[in-house]
Amino acid sequence: MSKVRHLLGISGGKDSAALAIYMKSKYPQLDIDYYTSDTGKELDETYKLIENLEVYLGKKIHLLNAADGSHMNPFDHFLKIYGGYLPSSNSRWCTKKLKLEPFEKYIGNDQVVSYVGIRGDEDREGYISRKSNIQSIFPFRRNIWSEDVVNKFLNSSNIDKAISLTEVVDLGSRSSRFVELLSKPLDYSFTLHNKLNQLLDLGTKETNYLIFEFLKSTDYPLAKEEDFPLVENEENLVRDDIFRILEESGVGVPAYYKKIEFDASGKKGEYSRSRSGCYFCFFQQKIEWVWLHEQHPELYEQAMEYEKDGYTWNQEESLAELIRPDRVKQIKEEYVKRQERLSSNIKSPYLLDILDDSESEGCAACFI
Ligand code: SF4
Repeated sequence: MSKVRHLLGISGGKDSAALAIYMKSKYPQLDIDYYTSDTGKELDETYKLIENLEVYLGKKIHLLNAADGSHMNPFDHFLKIYGGYLPSSNSRWCTKKLKLEPFEKYIGNDQVVSYVGIRGDEDREGYISRKSNIQSIFPFRRNIWSEDVVNKFLNSSNIDKAISLTEVVDLGSRSSRFVELLSKPLDYSFTLHNKLNQLLDLGTKETNYLIFEFLKSTDYPLAKEEDFPLVENEENLVRDDIFRILEESGVGVPAYYKKIEFDASGKKGEYSRSRSGCYFCFFQQKIEWVWLHEQHPELYEQAMEYEKDGYTWNQEESLAELIRPDRVKQIKEEYVKRQERLSSNIKSPYLLDILDDSESEGCAACFI
């Protein structure tokens, strides 16, 4: 048995699903265990996606149940313990209790390489855990390494070490150029980010081999692996690639991503849900609440039932207030206007427009 476990968490979202498909087809030699943490409150489409994935992968996706042994589903079990206090972006007990803690229990002290589906067109790190026995790898990005690994490798105190590795790794005719770049000290005009990108431009595979060799002198889980096929990765996959992977594999894109037309006082708009997660997730935008109300009224009703004793999913308004006809009309009109501004190619000074990147908030454990 390998000294290191290779794990991939399926959130129910498109990116982790596509990553599972991608890893199976591109790196079949890796023995990856797939897991998912069930909150008990996902949309049916998410459960369907997980079923389809199991068929494609030809193996079970391990189900982590945070409330194992309880007669209640995981979310309701913990809500009771928290005295009905609904989670929010400031108090996200749900992610901690339903996702992170079961994951950490699942791996214990094992050495783990965890594959994370952050895309090449995203500017976020998406750590799930900072425990030292877990190392995150990002196969969709040109830079597959986590920030902490890159920081260590390019740290000025490790320059000599990095240069010495150019003798070990076959860099061909680019060897002296690698040495030159690795020797160049960092300053405000040559940041760590610049250095990494220039190294990757010079040779992505070669840079990966240098970093993999460097890891052998550390405590990272990959130090214990003889080889690691992802060092050969030179791809950078973006949003469209994810949809293509899901469609071509036959697993399919969850139906809630499908845009549906609506009327906003004579103007046409389109809405959908932007990501997986609990149907009542407080990270969703107002237009997504409207989508839930109009497309899954029974789930909206259930979300409303959680709002009692002064607790609401949104700080500014309750779900009962949000679906008053005049409020729904306003939300739709504002959403259409925002979409128009975004598509007009004019750099908008409005903060709202910047925040309208519907995937910008949230966490790796729930949505990727
Ligand atoms: S999807 Fe939202 S509500 Fe559900 S566990 Fe994640 S953050 Fe909490």
